[in-house]
Amino acid sequence: MRNFLVKITNKLRSFFYGRNGFDDLAKLSIILSLISFLICGFCPKGIVKTIFYVLMMAFLAYGYFRILSKNIYKRVQENKRYTGALKMNKTRWEQRKTHKFYRCPKCKTWLRVPRGRGKITITCVKCAHKFDKKT
Ligand SMILES: [Zn+2]
Repeated sequence: MRNFLVKITNKLRSFFYGRNGFDDLAKLSIILSLISFLICGFCPKGIVKTIFYVLMMAFLAYGYFRILSKNIYKRVQENKRYTGALKMNKTRWEQRKTHKFYRCPKCKTWLRVPRGRGKITITCVKCAHKFDKKT
């Protein structure tokens, strides 16, 4: 029995070796799939049920695709973009009363400016592009 477990564990380990694994985006995808599954279960037969069924399958497929993907570099980049956006939203929410956030129109970098200064010229810290905004 113990040998069997060790064998299974080793098989799983070698299967997941070189694969992306369970990252934040995969987690989000699986959670969205579960939510779609629940909504699908409570819906009466019809187009809405079909839509949520398709959504559930799509999220599930995407989640598995991420977990099993061998293109780790690309998956890590995608996951970084997602966690970065989450962090940015959190910061924006926490500082919404004292600061305004703008994206540089040229390089898309997020820029933070204090609120209540009227019309100002913002200079991007990354590419030095200048643009006017109301704060
Ligand atoms: Zn810029």
